[in-house]
Amino acid sequence: MEAFEQVEKIAKDAGFTYVSRLDTSTLVLLDEVRDMCAANTCGKYGANWACPPGCGELEELRKQVARYQWGILVQTVGDVEDSMDFEGIVEVEKHHKKSFYEAAEKLKEKFPDMLALGAGCCTLCKECTYPSQPCRFPQKRVSSMESYGILVNDLCRKNGMSYYYGSEKMAYTSCYLFV
Ligand code: SF4
Repeated sequence: MEAFEQVEKIAKDAGFTYVSRLDTSTLVLLDEVRDMCAANTCGKYGANWACPPGCGELEELRKQVARYQWGILVQTVGDVEDSMDFEGIVEVEKHHKKSFYEAAEKLKEKFPDMLALGAGCCTLCKECTYPSQPCRFPQKRVSSMESYGILVNDLCRKNGMSYYYGSEKMAYTSCYLFV
Protein backbone atom coordinates (compact mmCIF):
# COMPACT_ATOMS: atom_id res chain seq x y z
CA MET A 1 0.00 0.00 0.00
CA GLU A 2 1.30 3.45 -0.92
CA ALA A 3 2.19 5.76 2.04
CA PHE A 4 -0.74 8.10 1.35
CA GLU A 5 -3.21 5.20 1.30
CA GLN A 6 -1.84 3.88 4.63
CA VAL A 7 -2.19 7.32 6.19
CA GLU A 8 -5.64 7.84 4.73
CA LYS A 9 -6.81 4.51 6.13
CA ILE A 10 -5.50 5.31 9.63
CA ALA A 11 -7.22 8.72 9.52
CA LYS A 12 -10.52 7.31 8.29
CA ASP A 13 -10.43 4.49 10.86
CA ALA A 14 -9.91 7.12 13.58
CA GLY A 15 -13.29 8.60 12.64
CA PHE A 16 -12.60 11.81 10.74
CA THR A 17 -15.43 12.91 8.45
CA TYR A 18 -13.11 14.01 5.63
CA VAL A 19 -9.51 13.26 4.73
CA SER A 20 -7.69 14.88 1.82
CA ARG A 21 -4.17 15.11 0.47
CA LEU A 22 -2.33 18.30 1.51
CA ASP A 23 0.03 19.89 -0.98
CA THR A 24 2.77 21.27 1.29
CA SER A 25 3.55 24.05 -1.22
CA THR A 26 0.23 25.59 -0.12
CA LEU A 27 1.41 25.89 3.49
CA VAL A 28 2.02 29.58 4.18
CA LEU A 29 2.89 30.71 7.70
CA LEU A 30 1.59 34.25 8.11
CA ASP A 31 2.57 36.95 10.59
CA GLU A 32 -1.05 38.19 10.40
CA VAL A 33 -2.38 34.92 11.84
CA ARG A 34 0.11 35.11 14.70
CA ASP A 35 -1.02 38.69 15.29
CA MET A 36 -4.56 37.32 15.73
CA CYS A 37 -3.17 34.90 18.36
CA ALA A 38 -1.50 37.83 20.10
CA ALA A 39 -4.91 39.54 20.37
CA ASN A 40 -5.61 36.67 22.81
CA THR A 41 -9.35 36.28 22.25
CA CYS A 42 -9.00 32.60 23.24
CA GLY A 43 -7.06 33.39 26.43
CA LYS A 44 -4.26 30.94 25.59
CA TYR A 45 -1.67 33.35 24.29
CA GLY A 46 1.32 33.17 26.63
CA ALA A 47 -0.38 30.44 28.64
CA ASN A 48 0.58 27.17 26.93
CA TRP A 49 3.83 25.72 25.55
CA ALA A 50 2.05 24.74 22.33
CA CYS A 51 0.76 28.29 21.66
CA PRO A 52 2.61 31.50 20.83
CA PRO A 53 5.02 32.67 22.00
CA GLY A 54 5.96 29.37 23.72
CA CYS A 55 5.75 27.30 20.51
CA GLY A 56 8.56 29.30 18.87
CA GLU A 57 9.21 32.23 16.58
CA LEU A 58 7.45 32.09 13.21
CA GLU A 59 10.79 32.08 11.33
CA GLU A 60 11.87 29.00 13.28
CA LEU A 61 8.54 27.29 12.52
CA ARG A 62 8.83 28.14 8.80
CA LYS A 63 12.18 26.30 8.71
CA GLN A 64 10.65 23.35 10.55
CA VAL A 65 7.65 23.10 8.19
CA ALA A 66 9.86 23.42 5.09
CA ARG A 67 11.23 19.90 5.82
CA TYR A 68 7.89 18.25 5.09
CA GLN A 69 7.21 16.92 1.63
CA TRP A 70 3.57 15.89 1.82
CA GLY A 71 0.65 15.75 4.17
CA ILE A 72 -3.03 15.22 4.79
CA LEU A 73 -5.83 17.45 6.00
CA VAL A 74 -8.39 15.87 8.30
CA GLN A 75 -11.74 17.26 9.31
CA THR A 76 -14.56 16.43 11.68
CA VAL A 77 -17.94 17.87 10.73
CA GLY A 78 -20.83 17.55 13.17
CA ASP A 79 -24.38 18.80 13.66
CA VAL A 80 -25.14 21.80 15.88
CA GLU A 81 -28.43 23.64 16.41
CA ASP A 82 -26.85 27.02 15.54
CA SER A 83 -23.71 29.03 16.24
CA MET A 84 -24.84 29.51 19.88
CA ASP A 85 -25.14 25.75 20.55
CA PHE A 86 -22.06 25.55 22.78
CA GLU A 87 -22.81 22.00 23.99
CA GLY A 88 -23.06 20.81 20.40
CA ILE A 89 -19.85 22.63 19.45
CA VAL A 90 -17.96 21.10 22.39
CA GLU A 91 -19.20 17.62 21.38
CA VAL A 92 -17.85 18.03 17.83
CA GLU A 93 -14.56 19.33 19.23
CA LYS A 94 -14.27 16.34 21.61
CA HIS A 95 -14.91 13.93 18.76
CA HIS A 96 -12.25 15.68 16.65
CA LYS A 97 -9.63 15.64 19.42
CA LYS A 98 -10.24 11.95 20.12
CA SER A 99 -9.79 11.08 16.43
CA PHE A 100 -6.82 13.41 16.19
CA TYR A 101 -4.84 11.90 19.09
CA GLU A 102 -5.76 8.33 18.13
CA ALA A 103 -4.56 8.82 14.54
CA ALA A 104 -1.46 10.76 15.70
CA GLU A 105 -0.35 7.86 17.88
CA LYS A 106 -0.74 5.32 15.08
CA LEU A 107 0.88 7.56 12.47
CA LYS A 108 3.89 8.25 14.76
CA GLU A 109 4.58 4.51 14.93
CA LYS A 110 4.88 4.31 11.13
CA PHE A 111 6.23 7.80 10.46
CA PRO A 112 8.30 8.90 13.47
CA ASP A 113 9.23 12.27 11.89
CA MET A 114 5.59 13.24 11.36
CA LEU A 115 4.41 16.68 12.48
CA ALA A 116 0.82 16.88 13.71
CA LEU A 117 -0.89 20.28 13.88
CA GLY A 118 -4.26 20.32 15.59
CA ALA A 119 -7.23 22.52 16.35
CA GLY A 120 -7.06 24.54 19.57
CA CYS A 121 -4.36 24.55 22.22
CA CYS A 122 -2.67 21.53 23.80
CA THR A 123 -4.93 20.04 26.47
CA LEU A 124 -2.83 17.03 27.47
CA CYS A 125 -2.40 18.35 31.02
CA LYS A 126 -5.13 19.76 33.22
CA GLU A 127 -2.90 22.80 33.76
CA CYS A 128 -0.06 23.71 31.44
CA THR A 129 3.33 24.31 33.10
CA TYR A 130 3.99 27.37 30.91
CA PRO A 131 6.13 29.36 31.60
CA SER A 132 7.52 28.39 35.00
CA GLN A 133 8.40 24.72 34.29
CA PRO A 134 9.35 22.81 31.12
CA CYS A 135 6.58 21.11 29.14
CA ARG A 136 5.71 17.72 30.68
CA PHE A 137 5.32 15.96 27.31
CA PRO A 138 7.39 17.77 24.66
CA GLN A 139 7.19 14.77 22.29
CA LYS A 140 3.43 14.51 22.58
CA ARG A 141 2.29 18.11 22.76
CA VAL A 142 0.49 19.45 19.71
CA SER A 143 0.30 23.01 18.47
CA SER A 144 -2.65 24.33 16.53
CA MET A 145 -2.44 25.18 12.85
CA GLU A 146 -3.15 28.82 13.78
CA SER A 147 -0.25 28.92 16.24
CA TYR A 148 1.97 28.08 13.24
CA GLY A 149 0.51 31.07 11.39
CA ILE A 150 -1.67 28.98 9.06
CA LEU A 151 -4.92 30.48 7.76
CA VAL A 152 -6.98 27.30 7.92
CA ASN A 153 -9.87 28.29 5.63
CA ASP A 154 -7.39 29.33 2.94
CA LEU A 155 -5.43 26.09 3.27
CA CYS A 156 -8.64 24.07 2.99
CA ARG A 157 -9.69 25.97 -0.13
CA LYS A 158 -6.31 25.45 -1.79
CA ASN A 159 -6.52 21.72 -1.13
CA GLY A 160 -10.10 21.19 -2.29
CA MET A 161 -11.67 20.83 1.15
CA SER A 162 -14.66 22.86 2.33
CA TYR A 163 -14.36 24.85 5.54
CA TYR A 164 -17.87 26.14 6.18
CA TYR A 165 -20.88 23.81 5.96
CA GLY A 166 -23.65 26.16 7.02
CA SER A 167 -24.99 27.37 10.36
CA GLU A 168 -26.16 23.90 11.46
CA LYS A 169 -22.76 22.26 11.07
CA MET A 170 -19.49 22.72 12.92
CA ALA A 171 -16.14 21.75 11.41
CA TYR A 172 -12.75 21.21 13.07
CA THR A 173 -9.67 20.84 10.86
CA SER A 174 -6.16 19.54 11.55
CA CYS A 175 -3.24 18.21 9.53
CA TYR A 176 -0.38 15.74 9.60
CA LEU A 177 2.85 16.43 7.69
CA PHE A 178 5.39 13.86 6.52
CA VAL A 179 8.99 14.02 5.28
S1 SF4 B 1 1.86 18.69 27.32
FE1 SF4 B 1 1.12 19.72 29.17
S2 SF4 B 1 2.81 21.12 29.72
FE2 SF4 B 1 3.15 20.51 27.57
S3 SF4 B 1 2.10 22.08 26.34
FE3 SF4 B 1 0.62 20.43 26.65
S4 SF4 B 1 -0.57 21.09 28.44
FE4 SF4 B 1 1.38 22.28 28.43
